Amino acid sequence: MTFDNEKTLSEIFSVSEEIYKDMSDDISDTDHGKLYDAITHLGKTLSGSERTCFWKWDKRTHTLRTRSAAEDNWTVIPDNSGLVGKALSERMVIITNHPYSDPDFDPDEDRRTGIVTNSMLVLPVSDINGEFIGAFQAINKLDGGSFTGEDCRRLSLAAVICGVALESEMFLDESHHDKLTGLKNRMGFYHDFVRYLKQVEAGETVSLFICDIDKFKSINDTYGHNAGDEVLKQTAAILTECCREGDSIYRWGGEEFVMIMSADKQTCADKAEEIRIKIKTATCHAEGHEIGMTLSFGVTEYDPAKNIEENISTADRKLYTAKESGRDRVVSE
Ligand code: GH3
Ligand code: MG
Ligand code: MG
Repeated sequence: MTFDNEKTLSEIFSVSEEIYKDMSDDISDTDHGKLYDAITHLGKTLSGSERTCFWKWDKRTHTLRTRSAAEDNWTVIPDNSGLVGKALSERMVIITNHPYSDPDFDPDEDRRTGIVTNSMLVLPVSDINGEFIGAFQAINKLDGGSFTGEDCRRLSLAAVICGVALESEMFLDESHHDKLTGLKNRMGFYHDFVRYLKQVEAGETVSLFICDIDKFKSINDTYGHNAGDEVLKQTAAILTECCREGDSIYRWGGEEFVMIMSADKQTCADKAEEIRIKIKTATCHAEGHEIGMTLSFGVTEYDPAKNIEENISTADRKLYTAKESGRDRVVSE
């Protein structure tokens, strides 16, 4: 198949305009699904194929994730699957025009989707340091044709854009998370808060609490810093377990956590009380010790007349009262 250059260029510009628009708005699209859909579409146009997918490689969980625009969800497979797995592990471009006779081809996806793969091109994508972070996969050259090195050359444009987008997404994601507990950190809070602020501006009620582990310094002093870290992790796990849909929990700093929710003050205080009891009755096993812990809480309903710092300060003052009046308690504004 030969390219109609004029038509191809026009399609490329349409897709790049779509990508540009997606990048400039839609803060609620946190997994950037629409952006990846558009880049995937660009890959399809460039490679002249029936389908393309971009696989994100998560080395931590040994998985590959791709988005299905049609189903609006993500497919997750082990990172040693099929030709994409091979391209990434062996750091190579793969072109096959007879996949069913390739021993590394995994026909499961065809069985699942009902689509027959006649030809395939896999182009690994790397970050700026040359580390592979994903792969572009083009399936079925149009008109029953064969993929060639020229398709790789064309697809590399989409791969570069995708690599840059993915790398900045990964960088942003890392900067919003705390490594020890896996919770989002203060930067993550300010990023997410924009969403809650929209709710507040629309007249909805938002509440938050700040909580702090009691006498945590003495846990460190008695059992050691590693045991202290374990207590932080377990506390974070219990807080996460107690999050309902729409609630968000953050490591605010040291041994302090913030939870924000679309709810009134009483609901937020009830949630804090539920967590207080769970933490108090839990035992953390660390460094051969059984460690008990308690939390103190300050709760406030978000006051739209004040800014976020002032609202956090209100909750912080209540937390201070909880500490002053004996710890292991919830104090509401
Ligand atoms: P209070 O009940 O008044 O909150 O007393 P506290 O001992 O919990 O508070 P203080 O502020 O005196 O001590 C907090 C300690 O938390 C001091 C700091 O070394 C420790 N800490 C902060 N971050 C970490 C961490 O990531 N790991 C560990 N193990 N300790 C941490
Ligand atoms: Mg403390
Ligand atoms: Mg503290």
